[in-house]
Amino acid sequence: MKKQFVVIGLGRFGSSVADTLLYQGHEVLVIDRDMSKVEPFMSTATLAVQADATDENVLNELGIRNYEHAIVAIGEDIQSSLLVTLLLKEIEVNTVITKAKDDLHGKMLNKIGADRVVYPERDMGERLAHHLDSSNLIEHIRLSREYDIIEIAAPKSFYNKSVQSLMGMTKKKMTIVAIKKGDSVDISPIHDAIIEPKDVLLIVGEKKLLRKLEQET
Ligand code: ADP
Repeated sequence: MKKQFVVIGLGRFGSSVADTLLYQGHEVLVIDRDMSKVEPFMSTATLAVQADATDENVLNELGIRNYEHAIVAIGEDIQSSLLVTLLLKEIEVNTVITKAKDDLHGKMLNKIGADRVVYPERDMGERLAHHLDSSNLIEHIRLSREYDIIEIAAPKSFYNKSVQSLMGMTKKKMTIVAIKKGDSVDISPIHDAIIEPKDVLLIVGEKKLLRKLEQET
């Protein structure tokens, strides 16, 4: 379904988000105060505007309140990032997603009402480090401070054990959500499903435990 987005700040992150949303066929209004960042979007975006998004009048004139989703992709200029997020929430944009540079920036964004805070540099850095650290790991997604999701080649200690016995063995600190055997995927493995060598597992669990599994060969 076609949705309407506004992307504010067309640095590396914002322009990549906007390009992808346009590619997916959505309507995207892009805004940057720097004309050289706006120009490449003149022919592709639904509307491309050079403006300072901290100016409330600009947001009103562009009818931003009618957009359901806004992405604030201003990283370096923290003051602008905070002010734009605040203004968007004040005019009642439904979902405001803001990029944070670091934890402190993220904390402030949460306090002023951002619906979601993303940390692209930190998350990508973490994922890369996990991949470099483990030869079994296929995918790593941060779920919260305590929990992650990993896609991993079945660790040796899991071979020939049932899903249920593994839950016990790990004191319920993880759940095996799916088991891939070749091309077939069991998305809700029953308790007595057995893990075999060459299986690929999708696991939700405590960071510490998952880290141990990643390091098993
Ligand atoms: P990245 O790390 O993703 O490249 P930057 O923080 O370098 O992100 O880029 C942010 C972009 O946001 C820049 O193109 C900048 O011109 C734009 N920007 C910063 N403040 C404002 C503002 N108040 N209004 C509109 N655009 C802004």
